[in-house]
Amino acid sequence: MLEKHIPQDSPSHARHPVYVVGGGPGGLAAAQALRARGIRAVVLEKSSRVGDSWRRHYDRLHLHTTRRRSSLPGLPMPRSFGRWPARDDMVRYLERYAEHHGLEVVTGVEVSRLERAGDGADGAWVLHATGGRRLTGSAVVVATGYNHTPRTPGWPGLDGFTGEFLHASAYRSGTAFAGRDVLVVGVGNTGAELAVDLVERGAARVRLAVRTVPHIVRRSTAGWPAQNTAILVRRLPVRLVDRLARTMARISVPDLSAQGLPRPDTGLYSRVREGAIPVQDVGLIDAVRRGRVEVVAAVDGFDGAEVLLADGSRITPDAVVAATGYVRGLEGLVGHLGVLDDRGLPTVHGPRAPQDAPGLFFTGFTTPISGTLRELARDAERLAKAIARAAG
Ligand SMILES: Cc1cc2nc3c(=O)[nH]c(=O)nc-3n(C[C@H](O)[C@H](O)[C@H](O)COP(=O)(O)OP(=O)(O)OC[C@H]3O[C@@H](n4cnc5c(N)ncnc54)[C@H](O)[C@@H]3O)c2cc1C
Repeated sequence: MLEKHIPQDSPSHARHPVYVVGGGPGGLAAAQALRARGIRAVVLEKSSRVGDSWRRHYDRLHLHTTRRRSSLPGLPMPRSFGRWPARDDMVRYLERYAEHHGLEVVTGVEVSRLERAGDGADGAWVLHATGGRRLTGSAVVVATGYNHTPRTPGWPGLDGFTGEFLHASAYRSGTAFAGRDVLVVGVGNTGAELAVDLVERGAARVRLAVRTVPHIVRRSTAGWPAQNTAILVRRLPVRLVDRLARTMARISVPDLSAQGLPRPDTGLYSRVREGAIPVQDVGLIDAVRRGRVEVVAAVDGFDGAEVLLADGSRITPDAVVAATGYVRGLEGLVGHLGVLDDRGLPTVHGPRAPQDAPGLFFTGFTTPISGTLRELARDAERLAKAIARAAG
């Protein structure tokens, strides 16, 4: 049940709810786990509905993690979603999840800054939110999303580019680009899938600018999902997993060196540890092999109608889609608390609060090989347990 009511401040910390900042999967799962332990949790969501990130993803998107391993605690996704749920199914699921568990969600409230309440020793926090609100929470869970703010590199000449330019976060469907010459920049999961979507929707030409060749894995092999393998191997030594992945890739992924996508030099799991998730194939291998997606060098800048590539060539696409990722955007919220590392990521996550910031928890800020949704669900249980323990 969604509610529009924000609890009144009360002098007693014991009567303050735990505030959860963000009504995506991470925030909803945390709120449910807290509620299941008898702790009042109020989710503050800046947009008008839960699951806002998912509502804004492109039309073609299906989960690359399985339905079973993407469900949040206390409500499995229905079988009718199939093995790889579609974007709209995910949105429906998140709405249903909040209702099913009777979560208290207040929408249209953006939290801009967190400060310790009093000396902060008891783990209480003051949240500064939309409309000058100051809310006191007995603890805070930050679940504002790893993919928070679209990131566009500061390319020279971009301001003067005369073609169409958009970040992948604004891309909905390739139908808008039918008959046009499009350059996709960046070959993460999003860039790879948008290139395929453009081909399928009738773009006249699709090029994909690649700086670092990605690891490409089949989403499933003989019915066995790549996610299951990832879960099995994730605790093994990194070098061993790198070796296994190399062998697996030789068996299941064709050599695309001639098309500009050689196998990477660095191991798959080593890359994951640096935050680079492998690309799950949803049509890229075939499109590259058939020449429908042409791989070109990285983008170095723009000059009028031209895009300048790292190999010295210049191309003139009608449109450029920058699939160049996101930043966490946590600096305003918690940057002053000394809880972020030099990449802007929380120094701890899940059930652990930073040493100097008791009562402050983060979820969803890792890129696990085993699937973010799966790990969010597990973190929710763990952090609710930690909060329950601290509350005595
Ligand atoms: C294209 C794409 C495909 C993906 N596919 C998969 C997949 O198949 N499997 C998988 O496991 N993961 C996938 N992910 C990762 C995915 O982002 C996470 O699994 C999941 O959405 C993360 O949930 P979250 O709650 O941490 O963040 P989000 O879903 O981003 O939710 C954060 C919420 O916080 C709100 N918010 C932000 N700032 C504030 C603020 N200051 N105050 C109040 N509210 C705020 C936002 O409006 C948003 O609703 C995908 C990501 C992308 C970009």
